[in-house]
Amino acid sequence: MLTFEEAQCLVGDHVKPGHIVELPLLHTLGLTLARPVTARADSPRFDASAVDGYAISLADFSAGPSVSLQVFGSIHAGSTAQKPLKRGSTQRIFTGAPVPKGADAIVMQEDVTVSEDTVTFRSVPERGASIRKRGAELRRGQPLFERGTVITPSVAQTLAACGHARVKVYARPSVSVVITGNELRTPGSKLNMGEIWDSNSIALEGALRSLGIEKVHIQHVADNPRSTTRAVRSALERSDVVIATGGVSVGDRDHVKEAFAANGVREIFWRVSMRPGMPIYFGIKRQRGGAKYVFGLPGNPVSVMVTYQLFARIAMLRMMGHVEDNSRSKGVLATPLKKSVPRTEFVRAYRESGTEGLPTVFPLGARESHMTTGMANADCLIVFPAEQEFLDAGSEVEIIPIMWAAY
Ligand code: AMP
Ligand code: MG
Repeated sequence: MLTFEEAQCLVGDHVKPGHIVELPLLHTLGLTLARPVTARADSPRFDASAVDGYAISLADFSAGPSVSLQVFGSIHAGSTAQKPLKRGSTQRIFTGAPVPKGADAIVMQEDVTVSEDTVTFRSVPERGASIRKRGAELRRGQPLFERGTVITPSVAQTLAACGHARVKVYARPSVSVVITGNELRTPGSKLNMGEIWDSNSIALEGALRSLGIEKVHIQHVADNPRSTTRAVRSALERSDVVIATGGVSVGDRDHVKEAFAANGVREIFWRVSMRPGMPIYFGIKRQRGGAKYVFGLPGNPVSVMVTYQLFARIAMLRMMGHVEDNSRSKGVLATPLKKSVPRTEFVRAYRESGTEGLPTVFPLGARESHMTTGMANADCLIVFPAEQEFLDAGSEVEIIPIMWAAY
């Protein structure tokens, strides 16, 4: 059986960034730039006042600091028609307003005395004081962001400030989810003996939406080969990514793998030496217009979330041009852990940071793969290495933070 690391590498090797689209900035959050971007304009665009105050010419200060000047007019942010500054006078000016020709500095209003239309200054300003110089931050044409930059609200702000309304990004994938299981009913509905509420649909749709993916299509399918094959076919026709849950193990009602094969999906791996999530499947269907990536996640609700985090989410982030995979970090184990199976276990846990050093990591009690509360209360997964049986309290452990959003 593949090790977890081998399987994760296979996903990383096979999944490529998706197609490139040009989108309005608001629709690019969490995506990455598919092309480098340069500044479209100087920033600041023009010499502007950094304060509310008075524009002066240094020539009027040749005799010393104590100078009185007459005020002629005022310039606000957004003023377009400016008069040049005349010798022996000052102009009222506000933050963000264009500096008039002939002005060498702006003096803050707090530093002057005003009486009627005359302003008295107390010191000689420095040349350029309180002026935001044109192009001081960026010159038009200057490289701004590299390809692969993740678009956060701040990156979008900078793009907007430099004149970009739309940018080229790697598209978000569309995703079809195929939920298998005869026992499943809609949450909240009345259950007969043996039936359970379907919790994987909301979990996956929620996870996908947290990544900014809006094209999510969910199908529920009964455990028989024909329905499963038909559902997988329409999922492949509709979406870039297909995620099935349940039915991927070795039970006689498990038809997902054969449905993938019947639809021309090539298996990259099935079964990984991990817990939870051992029966996970990953495959690819290559066709004109790009590859389709196919995941069969085991049906147990915790297995779904853990394999989503460790494989499907990473695949979709790669399609969106992200390079950073689930970054691992370290913590100190609060309570000892023991296991009996020689597979990598991902133990649900939460962290508490002290004032210094590594965070303390508290394993959560509900460790079985049908127990969703552990996952719900966790903010990280402890990587309990395959070959180890015990982890002592106080030992340093590797952890993978649980993340839902794209940035
Ligand atoms: P399977 O992988 O189909 O053998 O399912 C494994 C376990 O997960 C079974 O106990 C199923 O009842 C349960 N299960 C499968 N799908 C779901 C679902 N959508 N919501 C809640 N539990 C599920
Ligand atoms: Mg099932």
